[in-house]
Amino acid sequence: MQPTAEPHNATLVEKTPLETYVPPAKPSLIGLSRGELADRLGEIGVAPAQRKMRVQQLWHWLYFRGAQSFDEMTSISKGIRADLAQHFTVNRPEVVAEQISNDGTRKWLLRLPSGDNVEKAHEVECVYIPDTDRGTLCVSSQVGCTLNCSFCHTGTQRLVRNLTAGEIVGQIMVARDRLNDWADREDGTRRVTNIVMMGMGEPLYNFDAVRDALLIVGDNEGIGISRRRITLSTSGVVPNIVRAGEEIGVMLAISLHAVRDELRNELVPLNRKYPIKELLQACRDYPGASNARRITFEYVMLKGVNDSLDDAKLLVKMLKGIPAKINLIPFNPWPGTAYECSDWDQIEKFSEYIFNAGYSSPVRTPRGRDILAACGQLKSETEKLSARERQALRAMAMTD
Ligand code: SAH
Ligand code: SF4
Repeated sequence: MQPTAEPHNATLVEKTPLETYVPPAKPSLIGLSRGELADRLGEIGVAPAQRKMRVQQLWHWLYFRGAQSFDEMTSISKGIRADLAQHFTVNRPEVVAEQISNDGTRKWLLRLPSGDNVEKAHEVECVYIPDTDRGTLCVSSQVGCTLNCSFCHTGTQRLVRNLTAGEIVGQIMVARDRLNDWADREDGTRRVTNIVMMGMGEPLYNFDAVRDALLIVGDNEGIGISRRRITLSTSGVVPNIVRAGEEIGVMLAISLHAVRDELRNELVPLNRKYPIKELLQACRDYPGASNARRITFEYVMLKGVNDSLDDAKLLVKMLKGIPAKINLIPFNPWPGTAYECSDWDQIEKFSEYIFNAGYSSPVRTPRGRDILAACGQLKSETEKLSARERQALRAMAMTD
């Protein structure tokens, strides 16, 4: 995520100091699978014969209706509701700030208990990016990241912990709560239609929780966002790429950023463990990849580092045979970084070369700049820009 500065139009929901954070006293049911819900019902004395039916009811209230208390779950008997409330909650992560950009992008700062020390709290961000035909939610998988990519701000954060499945599903539920998005609108539309695992953290280093969460999110008796509308971005944890295809079945995005191992070792140090050749082989083996379900290759444009036409040529050559699309991301600078974003002319040349070679080569349009939720780690709707739009964007970038 991007460094946080005071935005123009932040709406603070309730910002208590981190030190005074009180962790929830009871566990939340959010993030539990059907089997785990059945176990919890068993713990509070629900008879085995009744559990399956009760789980169905709970699932519906939690994930389809978005109930925020047990009281709302009127199809469940009062006694069971009272027992549930005595032991559990339906809490999502606590929203401590909400910022709304001029372009409709919304960013929520969420507070979570620390894993090891219950006295402390952690924070993650979650961003909603509305567009004409979709609304994309950018979700975090970890607090911080262990991987230290040299151009990424998240990698410089010392504090790291995996999010639980509940904290991952909870981000989507917070968005639906805040956007009043639990029921279809009059015209049958929804606000959150797509999910990208492109917030903080490396999702494939938190495999089990990310898998469990995305299976809940994709379940069509609940939140119901189809796997084709969920994209998982990885910096290249090779052994878990094929697993992600098999066990989760979502769309894949690869943070490639360089076409030579020497440079990629520097930009994405994980490359030393899993070099480009192995990474591309995992992409070739990715279950379900096809021309209709292409793998996205993300490529951050770093001035004088990876943005030459030779790089573009090699990129096209190495992706041969992989159903791919390439997503060029203008580098988003942060305090202390030595990198600069490529000049717009260069991005345009790079993009045109790739486009002429037959690849879709959208440049990621910055969104939510005024609340620092823009470009960089957050994927917004991408589009192939016309020369005119590019010119307008260049003018905008220069005045920024
Ligand atoms: N850890 C995962 C997912 C989160 S990052 C991954 O690396 O894929 C989402 C995307 O934003 C990645 O492609 C990442 O390389 C890119 N990114 C990180 N820092 C950036 C920055 N400062 N400017 C532009 N893109 C950035
Ligand atoms: Fe981690 Fe992704 Fe940032 Fe690399 S780019 S440090 S993997 S969040």
